[in-house]
Amino acid sequence: MPEGRKGGEEDALRELLRKSTREPVLLAEEDVVCPACGKPSLHVREYLYEVPYFGKIVIGEGRCSNCGYRYSDVRVAEASEPKKIVVRVEGERQLRYLLVKSATAAVYIPERGYEMVPGPASTGFITTVEGILHRFLEALSVACRGREGDPVCSENRMWLERAIEGLERFTLVICDYEGTSRVVGDDVAEEPVDEVCERLLEKSREYMRRA
Ligand SMILES: [Zn+2]
Repeated sequence: MPEGRKGGEEDALRELLRKSTREPVLLAEEDVVCPACGKPSLHVREYLYEVPYFGKIVIGEGRCSNCGYRYSDVRVAEASEPKKIVVRVEGERQLRYLLVKSATAAVYIPERGYEMVPGPASTGFITTVEGILHRFLEALSVACRGREGDPVCSENRMWLERAIEGLERFTLVICDYEGTSRVVGDDVAEEPVDEVCERLLEKSREYMRRA
């Protein structure tokens, strides 16, 4: 259920902000072009927070005065080198790992060929590894609408549902081109970006060009 998923993510963010150790600092305030209606009427504010697990993060929030579109964004404040963040998921433990996926980062699961490629309206968010699986499940539901008997759809749905239960082993990779994403967990590896990340970056640029 999309609402439940979203609610869970907002709770995770609120919880972190409640534990924030400093008053938020207003970094920027500006009117930008709204990705929903195209008018320059999206008023965005960016705040610097200091929170547990992630340290300094930047939270963007805004609302379009023309169409009511709501914008929210999260990224790690101190950017590192471009990198690939690799989580080997063995079960439930890794599903609970908290993560920041910044707006420009791509995500993929090599064992399944699942890809999340940022487009022009992409924003950063805080979620868990499980939250990412719910997003893939949601994307699958959209792609499989009206194809109820399709074996490919049901096989993928079954795999994702099992993975969400902690019953599948897989690798979650975040292509963090700007070094503003992070995963909090014991066995998280950071490696140089690979050729899959390069390909997804090309794809993402293509989406941006078309917009
Ligand atoms: Zn708008």
